[in-house]
Amino acid sequence: MSERLLPAPGVTPETEAFVAAARAGRLMLPWCADCGRTHWYPRALCPHCSSTRLHWKPASGRGTVYSHSTLQRVAVPFTLAYVTLDEGPSMLTNLVDAPASGWHIGMAVRVQFQAAEDGTPVAVFSPDQPGSAGLARESGGGIAR
Ligand SMILES: [Zn+2]
Repeated sequence: MSERLLPAPGVTPETEAFVAAARAGRLMLPWCADCGRTHWYPRALCPHCSSTRLHWKPASGRGTVYSHSTLQRVAVPFTLAYVTLDEGPSMLTNLVDAPASGWHIGMAVRVQFQAAEDGTPVAVFSPDQPGSAGLARESGGGIAR
């Protein structure tokens, strides 16, 4: 199967730290120092309490498929999804490494990073199969659990 080149996400002051960690193969999430909750997408104010005291913490890179849709009537079909991360927030993302018929709601998935058309790493998710090397295979490092 040929791969679809992901569009460049653009890097903003709110996403610089996320992209820097992604270049090292690590998924990071913004956390609020005032209410203790995390969120996605990155932004200047906490969406739960409007605090500006946000900081980044490593995430597990694991989640479950909340919803998914495969675009078939394009040159290279691809699957978009909302993945609910183990830490709580849901992320709009791409699902990779399985056929369109291979996805189901509630399926366990694991992050990996694919280079967008401008080289920026983009978080995508693949099936989290028991015994898979996951992040360690992709980056030589990954997140210890
Ligand atoms: Zn907050």
